[in-house]
Amino acid sequence: SITVGVLALQGGVIEHIALLNRASTSFPTITFHFPEVKTPEQLSLCDALIIPGGESTTMAIVARRLGLFEPLREFVKINNKPVWGTCAGLVMLAEEASATKQGGQELIGGLDVRVLRNKFGTQAQSFVADLQLGFLAEGERPFKGVFIRAPVVEEVINGNGKVKVLGTVKKPGEEEDIVAVRQGNVFGTSFHPELTGDVRVHAWWLGNVVEALSHKGKEKGLVVGRGKLDG
Ligand code: GLN
Repeated sequence: SITVGVLALQGGVIEHIALLNRASTSFPTITFHFPEVKTPEQLSLCDALIIPGGESTTMAIVARRLGLFEPLREFVKINNKPVWGTCAGLVMLAEEASATKQGGQELIGGLDVRVLRNKFGTQAQSFVADLQLGFLAEGERPFKGVFIRAPVVEEVINGNGKVKVLGTVKKPGEEEDIVAVRQGNVFGTSFHPELTGDVRVHAWWLGNVVEALSHKGKEKGLVVGRGKLDG
C-alpha cells in the first residue's frame, strides 16, 4: 500500500484528502492511505506528502513548535520523497521568500525558487484563470486555477537548471507569472486544485508518486494504467 499524508497543522486539509480519494480510483490495483499528519511519527509513516494552502507564517510557527521542521526537511531533501505544496505549501517548499509582502518566515525548502507572497493582493482579489499545465495533453481543456492570496515564483535561483516551469498565468496589464513548478520530487502550485471538482492535477501527481515508489521497489511489478495522465 501507499501512504500519502496531508500536513494538517492549518489550512485546507480535508479538501485535499477528498480529491486524493477520488484520484486514487485511477489506480484500482493499489491500496492508498491518506492520513492527516501532525507529528514527526505520523510523517515517518508516509511515502509522500501534500502541504496544503492556508497561511505559511502560521504553518511555520506551528511546525517549529511541534518539532516538525527537521523531519520535513529530511523528508523532502534527504529522503527525496514526493511532496506537493499548494499555495502556502508552495511558500513552505521554496528556498527563499521575498522580503517584501511578508517574507522572512522559516521555510522547508526543496525548490530552488524565490517566491513572492500575496502577489495578487488580498482575499477580495481572488480569481480563477484557465491554465495550460505542462502535463495536460495537447488540446485538453484547460485547468481552472483558483488563486487566493496566492504566491508566485518570482525567480528561479541557484542556477542548477533543475526547476521545470509547468504553468504560468498572465493577468491583464501584468507580466506573466510562474504558478506551477517541479524540481525532481518536489512539486508546487500557486493555485488550489483541491478547491475545484477537477481531479486531474491530483491524479497526475499520484501517478508520479506511484512511479517514484515503483522505482524504489516498494510497489514491485505495478501495472499502472496512466493513459492521458502521462507526462
Ligand atoms: N497568502 C498565504 C501565504 O502567503 C497563502 C494563501 C493560501 O494558501 N491560499 O502563506
